[in-house]
Amino acid sequence: MQIINPATAEIITSLAEDNSSTLQIKFDTLKKAQPQWANKTLSERISVIARFSDLLETGIEELALVLTSEVGKPLQQSRNEINGARARIKWMLANAEKYLADEIMTDEPGLKEIIKYEPLGVVCNISAWNYPYLVGVNVFIPALLSGNAVMYKPSEYSTLTGIEIEKMLKKAGVPDDIFHIAIGAKETGAALLEIDFNGYFFTGSYKTGKFIYEKVASKMVPCQLELGGKDPLYIADDVADVTSAAIGTADGAFYNNGQSCCSVERIYVHEKNYDNYLNVFVTEVKSWKTGQPTSDGVYIGALTRKEQILVLENQIKDALSKGATLLTGGKAIAGKGYYFEPTVLTDVTNDMLVMQEESFGPIIGIMKVKDDAEALNMMKDTDYGLTASVYTADQVRAEKILSQLDSGSGYWNCCDRVSAALPWSGRKYSGIGATLSHQGLRAFTKPKGYHLRG
Ligand code: NAD
Repeated sequence: MQIINPATAEIITSLAEDNSSTLQIKFDTLKKAQPQWANKTLSERISVIARFSDLLETGIEELALVLTSEVGKPLQQSRNEINGARARIKWMLANAEKYLADEIMTDEPGLKEIIKYEPLGVVCNISAWNYPYLVGVNVFIPALLSGNAVMYKPSEYSTLTGIEIEKMLKKAGVPDDIFHIAIGAKETGAALLEIDFNGYFFTGSYKTGKFIYEKVASKMVPCQLELGGKDPLYIADDVADVTSAAIGTADGAFYNNGQSCCSVERIYVHEKNYDNYLNVFVTEVKSWKTGQPTSDGVYIGALTRKEQILVLENQIKDALSKGATLLTGGKAIAGKGYYFEPTVLTDVTNDMLVMQEESFGPIIGIMKVKDDAEALNMMKDTDYGLTASVYTADQVRAEKILSQLDSGSGYWNCCDRVSAALPWSGRKYSGIGATLSHQGLRAFTKPKGYHLRG
């Protein structure tokens, strides 16, 4: 498997891929070793993960360079991601005892009732490339903390980072046969589905997630899916500081080149604020520096996958043929590497691909609406349900709109945000199950009820 630098289109290195038999060997060793790891105390496992977090801190510069070299995001955004992962780990470590330790529910003469959170066993984590540290940490850290062994398949676009993660976990004290990585692409992922893991935890596209869910169903084990989104955002008429809202939401749409599961993907603006908002938004987008992700001050780096350029071109062509107006951007940037101009479309309608299909790139459609009811109808019109955002001066008004949207997260006066304390979950095509929060810590366990008489 060749690892390509998307910023230069050059080959970085080549790696041998795993196949069914190497994966089976890795699985067998994980299965054999897992009970010993589960028998360690929770505080021993917490210490190991704390050391992993320290290694992320000390290695941040080299790790950020590796990440940028294979996914093309600006170096500062790679550093931000590693720091973000450390913040999530910090929350998990601080809360592990509270949510994973035994819970005494009843303690009276002659009867004790206790819940014990037992590990699932050996879990399989098939992961995405857009934030390999963040989406990886959501899964393999609580899985390890709760006593599981883990087979981690990084995306084929972030394998070098996956290898670094494995090295650091081992250096921190995770035993050799408690964490293995599976190297490869689609075929390697598919081969993992043929093995009898005790749980599957997937981050990626709806299409692959649906395939995995169907394939795993007959195994009767937990299967969680964190999938894509078409996240809507509404700017109401009472927003006082339209300039800040426009600048903040432009970042929400274009950070990491729009390659975030919770990127703002559709914007609806009340007619009263529309002209002002659009003006600031487009000025902001035009001000960004695009180019080599290792250069200072670059905000828009390279797209990770060359194929995404075709998706974006197709969405723009479709929108323009149906009457949209192109305000800036609109095409790939010529030369080596996979670059695309940040693109803003207006006069869009919800029947355009750019308002229905996940774009996962630096492109946004902005629509004028006349009131909250129209905004709500437009926001609801999607197969996805990851996040939704409302900007208004009035919290009650925001919560009223958010409560009517079938999404896993609701934002008031913010967007494109994840908190370790809150469940990260999708509805409809955006997924099943939750990571992060106490739910995400317990997602890798099976509760057992002990009824103790005596
Ligand atoms: P993808 O579905 O193409 O690939 C994800 C993983 O699945 C990769 O490791 C890939 O090798 C593997 N895979 C592909 N085909 C497979 C198959 N048939 N069987 C088993 N494994 C297979 O997704 P991607 O391009 O890596 O990630 C982008 C998608 O992930 C976007 O839709 C994004 O919104 C979503 N995402 C969601 C979240 C979330 O938290 N909800 C977070 C990050 C990314």
